[in-house]
Amino acid sequence: MDDLVALLKRELGDAAVLTGDDVSARATSYWDAAPMQAKAIVRPGTTDEVASVLKHCYERNQPVVTHGGLTGCVQGAQSDGGDIVISMERMNQIEDIDTVAHTLTVQAGAVLESVQNDVAAEGMFLPLDLGARGSCTIGGNVATNAGGINVIRYGMARALVLGLEAVLPDGTVLSSMNKMLKNNAGFDLKQLFIGTEGALGIVTRVVLRLQPQATTRNTALAALPNFAAIPALLNHLKSTVGASLSAFEAMWGNYFAGVTEDGWHKAPMGREHSHYILFECDGSDPARDNERFMEVVEQAFEKGIIEDAVIPKSEAERSALWAIRDDFEAIVSVKPVFLYDVSLPITSMEAYVADVEALLAKLLPTAKIYTLGHIGDGNLHFFVQAHTDDAEARELSDRAIYEPLANYEGSVSAEHGIGFEKKEWLSQSRSAAEIAVMQQLKNTFDPKHLLNSGVVVD
Ligand code: ZN
Repeated sequence: MDDLVALLKRELGDAAVLTGDDVSARATSYWDAAPMQAKAIVRPGTTDEVASVLKHCYERNQPVVTHGGLTGCVQGAQSDGGDIVISMERMNQIEDIDTVAHTLTVQAGAVLESVQNDVAAEGMFLPLDLGARGSCTIGGNVATNAGGINVIRYGMARALVLGLEAVLPDGTVLSSMNKMLKNNAGFDLKQLFIGTEGALGIVTRVVLRLQPQATTRNTALAALPNFAAIPALLNHLKSTVGASLSAFEAMWGNYFAGVTEDGWHKAPMGREHSHYILFECDGSDPARDNERFMEVVEQAFEKGIIEDAVIPKSEAERSALWAIRDDFEAIVSVKPVFLYDVSLPITSMEAYVADVEALLAKLLPTAKIYTLGHIGDGNLHFFVQAHTDDAEARELSDRAIYEPLANYEGSVSAEHGIGFEKKEWLSQSRSAAEIAVMQQLKNTFDPKHLLNSGVVVD
């Protein structure tokens, strides 16, 4: 056995260090069923153990890859046989829920959904939510500045982080577990670890802002006649129930029809509409909120913005509507399939999607495209099913998505990050000066390039 692996087993205990079949029994990621590759998976239980592992790796020039829930979409946690993986899975405890100051102190390996539930049990609300909630971890959410479905109201993960603790590649523990909304005492160092994809350090603990739990929730799935009705509906909702609007999820007709094919989700309304919007309002006034919501939906009908709407009458019905948005197994089970995550102003979206469809039809005529997005945030997702095993399919599909984006000053990543997958496209969204500063930061924090090496920038 490798000397370092033997040392880590002695220090952390055999159960904390997996090798051989215990490594390959794991899948590479949620998106890739191939066996995981790594020299060992080390599972520290404390920040001090993370620091000790990193220090040993640093002294021996050992590359390290950090693992959270492995739901990331851009190969940001991909390891090879020469890497030591540090999995945060054992650091999964909630340390404190402060219902007076509205803060949550939690370890990085805690799974988002279980944290949401524990916070709810205390009468509070964690306004971070995304489809991967059942597997993704708080540390991964912070390291990737996760977005998701509540961004329209509460902002991305960054907006919720008050403080954090991270371990630098050489084993230095940097603890900035601030709990205040205001703290201008020098540089705000936590920002260096939010959205930097684990390239500068390993996030071990986090302080997040909480909100009071809503007492009313109103949901609707609406069918729209065309794209122009999307911003019209969004602006109608903003100007009526604005502050309580917590989700506004758009599905193009191709996506809605795709996930409601026979044998998949049951379509709660006709499948022939141009676009569908799933929107939700959370409020605190049971006497008025429900009635107001119905009024606002009624007005949207009268204005011709929506053609049909379904309003769930139970939590089960609501979950079934959300499953149409969150569970796209019907689409991703047809391999090979490529997932995209771009952002651009809503005013350019219709033209951009038309450009993408036209270029894809030209470059990869066998492909089928499915479109959805967090429209209020300017964020679009595409699934492209290749329907060919042509080795160049991925490259052609990438071109169809990214090349038209340049004309609209969009971003090649809205919320998924860069990882390895989008590195070659980073320069389309960031200037040479911006990329040079990213490289300087990497060289400063990780001069040996041992931590998540090659992710985002070289
Ligand atoms: Zn998304």
